[in-house]
Amino acid sequence: MFNISPQFAFLGPGFYQLVTPTPLLNPHLIHLNKPLTKQLNLDDVPDTRWLNILNGTPVETYKPLASIYAGHQFGTFVPQLGDGRAILIAEHKDTNNQVWELQLKGSGQTPYSRFGDGRAVLRSSIREYLCSHAMAALGIPTTLAIAMIDSDTKVAREEIETGSIILRAAPSFIRFGHFEVFASRNQINELSKLANFVIDHYYPECNNAPNKFSALLDRVADNTAKMIAKWQGVGFCHGVMNSDNMSILGLTLDYGPFGFLDNYNPRHIFNHSDHEGRYSYANQPQIAGWNLERLAECLSLLTKPEELQNSLNNYAKYFNQYYIQEMGNKLGIINFGLEDLDLLSELLNILASSNTDWTIFWHNLSKITRGNRASILDYVSNRDELKSWLDKYLIRRTEQDLDFAKSKTVMLNTNPALVLRGHLAQNSISRAQAGDYADLERLFNALSTPFEMHDAYLDYYGYPPEWASHSNLSCSS
Ligand code: AMP
Ligand code: MG
Repeated sequence: MFNISPQFAFLGPGFYQLVTPTPLLNPHLIHLNKPLTKQLNLDDVPDTRWLNILNGTPVETYKPLASIYAGHQFGTFVPQLGDGRAILIAEHKDTNNQVWELQLKGSGQTPYSRFGDGRAVLRSSIREYLCSHAMAALGIPTTLAIAMIDSDTKVAREEIETGSIILRAAPSFIRFGHFEVFASRNQINELSKLANFVIDHYYPECNNAPNKFSALLDRVADNTAKMIAKWQGVGFCHGVMNSDNMSILGLTLDYGPFGFLDNYNPRHIFNHSDHEGRYSYANQPQIAGWNLERLAECLSLLTKPEELQNSLNNYAKYFNQYYIQEMGNKLGIINFGLEDLDLLSELLNILASSNTDWTIFWHNLSKITRGNRASILDYVSNRDELKSWLDKYLIRRTEQDLDFAKSKTVMLNTNPALVLRGHLAQNSISRAQAGDYADLERLFNALSTPFEMHDAYLDYYGYPPEWASHSNLSCSS
């Protein structure tokens, strides 16, 4: 049962406009995330009601709205963006008193659609739906997706595609860009109201700090660093880290031309509109810092800039800590420290120079035993280099207060067997576009337990097919 509990809606005019979703023709519920509906205490909502809600039927008395924000896109400030195809349709409180914003994506135009049609296509909806589920199961902070519909509505992109809507959920969809729109217009009242809203609802501990805005920046830097370190560990590349796609809660937000590394190439770019590689895998930590600087500029209208500097500097410190922890866990060395970074970079060089598959390598490194370490050599082309690295690595791994079996458990819980590789998503999409949703369901289920290999899903764990390296992801979604 819905338990409507508005928070964002109380911010009032200036922050959003009320809108009405535009339904799709002949909608069809193609997936419902049952574990998530249970988590949100919404498992008693029947499928037919979910279908109607996704297609625009109001949830109780809540008035749907689209919020205004701005953002830096590829480094350039765009004064007004906003929810161009997303509509907040409910704020629901679960039995743990957690309020969830429920947002439709693809439900038609809003005052912020600019030149867009307000629609999402089945291809991009499936990618976001599966990936938010995959990320959550990997333990990576993310927005979630409750359900997805497709329809007979045709949507024009490079080709004519199927119109689709997903219903996504997060404690908040507030982005850095929400701060930027008010800061750029010098709307100090709104900026201050927004900052206080975020503090009161999501970071209440900041109210006790000597400078609450500096404390807020520090908390956001911390959560962002945590998220990016996880991305780097698992080989996730967001593809469009514009400041309007950066969540104030440090959630992975707005899945577009994202990807997971197949071969390890730190310069890999998933978004084909990103000619400079601004959002390449290796650049993500630094770009997150750049976006935090944009947030700090906004907050500097509420407090002295020098009061914010420490919090801003903390981002690099936090990121390094989380990254070292993450990579240490990947290596099964829990007291991994700065002095071990040479060992790590030597391995990364070996993996890069031999085009080694990121996921398969790490998962299999987790499985080596003291008696059988040679098995890992089959996963690289430069065996001799890896062999001499392994000698050093195994000495270091045994030099810790954790026995081999326990460090293996840490590794198996850090190095997944399954990530949402591009070709796996694409296979599900192609079949769904032909009206067959069986693989979507099967892949969704396999992604629920990414750290375990199941006999039923063996076809998902192998190397990507040759065609996967030619796939072309753009922002068009
Ligand atoms: P994105 O690149 O997805 O982060 O989107 C950037 C901005 O464009 C956001 O304000 C979106 O709401 C808006 N937008 C993207 N696609 C569409 C669309 N098909 N219709 C309307 N607005 C869109
Ligand atoms: Mg976006």
